[in-house]
Amino acid sequence: MTKNISLLGATGSIGIQTIDIIREHPQEFKLVAFSAGRNVEKAREIILEFAPTLVSVQEENDAILLKKEFPSIELAYGSKGLIDVATHPDASVLVNAVLGSIGLESTLEAIKQQKTIALANKETLVTAGHLVMAAAAKYNAIILPVDSEHSALFQSMNGEKRSQVSRLILTASGGSFRDRTRSELKNVTIQDALNHPNWSMGAKITIDSATMMNKGLEVIEAQVLFDMPYDDIDVVLHRESIIHSMVEFQDTSVMAQLGTPDMRVPIQYALSYPDRLPRKKAKRLNLVEIGKLHFEEMDFTRFHALQLAYDAGRAGGSMTTVLNAANEAAVALFLNGDITFLKIEDCIERVMDKHTVINMPDLEMILHVDANTRKAVQNMVKY
Ligand code: NDP
Ligand code: MG
Repeated sequence: MTKNISLLGATGSIGIQTIDIIREHPQEFKLVAFSAGRNVEKAREIILEFAPTLVSVQEENDAILLKKEFPSIELAYGSKGLIDVATHPDASVLVNAVLGSIGLESTLEAIKQQKTIALANKETLVTAGHLVMAAAAKYNAIILPVDSEHSALFQSMNGEKRSQVSRLILTASGGSFRDRTRSELKNVTIQDALNHPNWSMGAKITIDSATMMNKGLEVIEAQVLFDMPYDDIDVVLHRESIIHSMVEFQDTSVMAQLGTPDMRVPIQYALSYPDRLPRKKAKRLNLVEIGKLHFEEMDFTRFHALQLAYDAGRAGGSMTTVLNAANEAAVALFLNGDITFLKIEDCIERVMDKHTVINMPDLEMILHVDANTRKAVQNMVKY
């Protein structure tokens, strides 16, 4: 039976690869609604190819423009538009590939409509994991990870008892600067940082990989998704990105999921779950060709952002909201040329130091802390 899909962030890196999978499997998947941000050109291409029922864009003006071109399609915009797409009545699956904590409310609304959520938008789980997981339990909605590490963990636990898992081991490629010392990071440029050795991704997550904050966000994402204590979540540097993560069980057995670094694999698995579908044109893993896989201990002094993420996770409550919002704001400043690379983690640390944790924050409190944190980071560079 065809699964009807709504897609947030269709014009981004994950969004475009989700569309590749939908295109590869026209019998299985149908795109019924999607959102774009400012890339109207790409939105137009997707409309022409898939003729969806509903499209949302970031700005009202762009929605008006597209409505004139496509009068038979429903057009929406802004944060309400994201919710409209996420809760579209024809869709059973929502792929959330929007960037940043802006994806939180639409995820919560989709959960209330009992959609299956294929979640790439990790910031949602970092900023308000407890609200998302509680809502999913209440409304019986399934959340399937798209992030490659979490898909690997999820796949490695298939058919196993969660209570018998003893450790989650996330692998990290190390990002663009894995072979540089901290002092060599002082004068790196935006272009250097955007040059990831293994994965082709959106700008923000590529910077997050270079700072290692991406792995920090993923540690918190793993804690939330699999309810494991931070002491039982490890990160290991694995430069080839072939083992996407591992699960250790109490009998010391370790299960891993392997594959070539291609986000379309975990995206497709989240869409086809519990089935697997063929990928005829995809590159197959050839371990003989690769020859060797390497593993190194994580250096928390070198990758200070990873330490900050563990600290935020252990502090709990609103601290992970602060970590995420500060990181989003600082990375935007770096990409805009306003701060240096090392200043990103410095900004995050300074706002975390000043924050007093609020336990079990509700949605209103999370949005409040998120907005205040962004302002605090922006103010740091003004003076
Ligand atoms: P991109 O920057 O490539 O894409 C982001 C998408 O979100 C675009 O469609 C963009 O629209 C849209 N968007 C951004 N801001 C807004 C806004 N204010 N309102 C509406 N839409 C908006 O990001 P990625 O695809 O790389 O990442 C998306 C998510 O997936 C992130 O949470 C990331 O951490 C996660 N992820 C990504 C991976 C990857 O390989 N890229 C791997 C694992 C997780 P537009 O471009 O039209 O402006
Ligand atoms: Mg990942």
